[in-house]
Amino acid sequence: MNLARQIEQYLPQQLLELVKDISGQAAKRGQRVYLVGGVVRDLFLGYPNFDLDLVVEGDAVKLAQQVAETSQAKLLAHHRFGTAKIRYENFSLDLATARKETYAKPGALPAVTPGTLENDLIRRDFSINAMAISLASNDYGELVDPYQGKNDLEHRLIRILHPESFSDDATRILRAVRYEQRLCFELETQTAQLLKRDIPMLDTISGDRIRHELELIFKEKQPEFVINRLAELEVLPRISPFLKGDGWIVEKFDKARHLNKPAQLPSLYFCLLTYSFSEGGIEQFLTRLSISAKLSRAMRDTLRLKTKLPLLDKPSLKPSEIYYLLREYESLAIQANAIASEPSMAQRYLQLFLIKLRYIRTSLDGEELKRLGISAGPEMGKVLQILHKAKLDGEVRTRADETKLALSLSPRL
Ligand code: ATP
Ligand code: MG
Repeated sequence: MNLARQIEQYLPQQLLELVKDISGQAAKRGQRVYLVGGVVRDLFLGYPNFDLDLVVEGDAVKLAQQVAETSQAKLLAHHRFGTAKIRYENFSLDLATARKETYAKPGALPAVTPGTLENDLIRRDFSINAMAISLASNDYGELVDPYQGKNDLEHRLIRILHPESFSDDATRILRAVRYEQRLCFELETQTAQLLKRDIPMLDTISGDRIRHELELIFKEKQPEFVINRLAELEVLPRISPFLKGDGWIVEKFDKARHLNKPAQLPSLYFCLLTYSFSEGGIEQFLTRLSISAKLSRAMRDTLRLKTKLPLLDKPSLKPSEIYYLLREYESLAIQANAIASEPSMAQRYLQLFLIKLRYIRTSLDGEELKRLGISAGPEMGKVLQILHKAKLDGEVRTRADETKLALSLSPRL
């Protein structure tokens, strides 16, 4: 099957020219270049995907170096992996040396040697991700599809390439469900059976790799459906016995998306995912997934604040009281609680803190207080805190109000 016409229609002109230029330079070096993986899948599905992955038969890094020099693009090379990223103004391209992999033991990273395109395709996760399109001039546009990926796309199936695929690399269990939910596909019957059989193999996967797959799930448009499906397949408890997927997750993840910036979402999803955890459970989870110190702090804070919410659930707290109760918590933990808690006074206060109180500052700063005759040190600290409280509670509004209050305080101090 030849897809020359489809490529020309699918790729933006600029990207198409880049890709052809690379393939031309490769040909002169006696190398062949293919489009591979997600872009081929998405071209058939008609979804835009301009994160191009190119496989090179022969040394991809040397080719990338030459291409980057001639086009004055930025190059990021990983000699050890035989991969390189070329950064242009509007795009970046990933080039990889076609490789052959062997797994010494399940879950370990594979041993890698240079190989052919066919070697490179068989090491891939699913048939729909194991297709390539030639960019060489003599067969430009020719589809290479040794595992009937196109047929599986038409039947909307996620299929592994061989029965030991999940046990070789159990992260594929998480990837399978991610694609199944993203694309509204189904797990092919035998793939589903093997997935279930190999769930225990998740124990062979390092925390970093499991976490990375969860991060990829959290970049999906609706990760809650992936989480719930993983629960249904009994995959989640293998990661942590306390993990659950349910209607609560659907509601709260959706709310998180409506209230938060995309950059914060993955971390927020982590806090929500573990909202029902005990103190022991969270520690086990943080260790199992090698969660970073920063995110660990936010996730622990989320649970700590959850236990303190009753203190906030009073009808007439002053803004300064709310502020001083909440300021010791990571803002992510406050956001998670604002989303996860039930409608209540406490929830309103959390929102008030997030949208207003945390930004309130005094007009006068230390320098200005010095000019008023207040000496630096503990005295000034006290004055600033009293000013801040008064500002939070609306007792002072203007700079003049603050000056008056500061002067009235200083002799007493
Ligand atoms: P998308 O980025 O849209 O999720 P993609 O296909 O580009 O899809 P990547 O995670 O970027 O996915 O990986 C690129 C390719 O590398 C995949 O298409 C797949 O063929 C291969 N791949 C990635 N992870 C694995 C894995 N654990 N086992 C086997 N092959 C993998
Ligand atoms: Mg990709």
